[in-house]
Amino acid sequence: MSVDAMKRRCAVSGCETAPKRGHLMCLAHWRRVPRAEQAEVNDSWRAFMKGAGQEGSRERLARYRAAAKAATDAVMEKPEGGRP
Ligand SMILES: [Zn+2]
Repeated sequence: MSVDAMKRRCAVSGCETAPKRGHLMCLAHWRRVPRAEQAEVNDSWRAFMKGAGQEGSRERLARYRAAAKAATDAVMEKPEGGRP
């Protein structure tokens, strides 16, 4: 609940588009995340939600955060088209 209530904004810095509920980034950016990173974000998020409040949830959240960062970095590394 608390994590979901975090500011709903695309994880890619500079992007103001609000992602769908429960999504890390807007669809346009998400589509540019490599499959492996997408899968890790989804898996780690599911694992975190499933075990929320239980032992190990800190570690699972850390795993999700790392996955989210990897996905965000992957998108930001290859800008498409213009620059800010
Ligand atoms: Zn975005």
